[in-house]
Amino acid sequence: GATIGILGGGQLGRMLSVAASRLGYRCHIYEPAAAPAGDVAHALTNAPYEDEAALRAFAESVDVITYEFENVPTAALDLLESIRPIRPNRRTLAVSQDRLTEKDFLTGIGLTTAPYRNVETEADLPAALQDLGAPAILKTRRMGYDGKGQIRFSDAAQRDWTGAPSVLEGFVDFSAEISVIVARGVDGQVAAFDPGLNVHREGILRTTTVPSGQPNGILTDAVLIAARIVNALDYIGVMGVELFVTPRGLVVNEIAPRVHNSGHWTQAGCAVDQFEQHIRAVAGLPLGDGQRYADVEMQNLIGDDIDQIPALLRQPRTQVHLYGKGEARPGRKMGHVNRVL
Ligand code: ATP
Ligand code: MG
Ligand code: MG
Repeated sequence: GATIGILGGGQLGRMLSVAASRLGYRCHIYEPAAAPAGDVAHALTNAPYEDEAALRAFAESVDVITYEFENVPTAALDLLESIRPIRPNRRTLAVSQDRLTEKDFLTGIGLTTAPYRNVETEADLPAALQDLGAPAILKTRRMGYDGKGQIRFSDAAQRDWTGAPSVLEGFVDFSAEISVIVARGVDGQVAAFDPGLNVHREGILRTTTVPSGQPNGILTDAVLIAARIVNALDYIGVMGVELFVTPRGLVVNEIAPRVHNSGHWTQAGCAVDQFEQHIRAVAGLPLGDGQRYADVEMQNLIGDDIDQIPALLRQPRTQVHLYGKGEARPGRKMGHVNRVL
């Protein structure tokens, strides 16, 4: 059978590997750091992204390369792509590695984002705050996740700095956060899962619930927006699209060119979950339809939430997923549970 190369060995790579195995594929993970995915993949390369010999050997051992981590350095991607196809494509990575280029892309295809300004250096901050007013959020352009690298401004006279090129975003007064897990196949077929309702605490996703409770018109709009994004990028694979629901319509918060935490509910709600859907897409198989056959609440197990595991294992209609990460530090995603409602 074919071998799928996965850049990144975290929990997303781990769940992709399991899904790939079920379809008869082998997986080779490339991860410079600790790799929970290494336990379940058929091969693991534990080397830095600067190691050209390791990158070359990895690429030559696989048929197609995908990723669960979108901040792989450009030079490594150039080398890998000279040997095997990378799916989703390089353009998508370039767009989504930087919040500024991502927002320029989204507004460029006619979608609405929060109002934003490039804050290249600290010196650009006062004018940007003057323009957008408070409240506002300053976010580093690169590498941020789980709310890291973000500063909230409640007052336009406040002066704090992220320490890196950033974007300032006007605060969106949303009534709900939803996300679309959308997939696009090699033939251009698009399939979306039901949009889920997301609740964050301290910048970290806590729960995703489907159905989301939002009106059908909003859900249809959300799926159409997600389809517009993947079509514009000639995308292959699964993408997470985060949206704010506002009285003036949907605002795109950000996109993630990979399987997404808010799509974990599909493991309990759909015949083909987001991980299998991604493997199908990058391997060139037909997509699953994405139909939901159960109502589900996904809850992340963060830090010492794992103390609840013995009790959770006794609950009916509950799937427990653990990532094999070892030490439970505060804010660290250790696992999740899917409750069929
Ligand atoms: P992720 O782990 O989803 O990649 P991230 O670090 O990229 O997170 P964002 O998604 O940009 O962070 O922001 C985290 C959360 O902060 C959002 O889900 C939302 O709740 C809130 N937030 C972000 N930007 C805005 C905004 N412009 N207006 C209001 N709330 C916001
Ligand atoms: Mg993000
Ligand atoms: Mg986000």
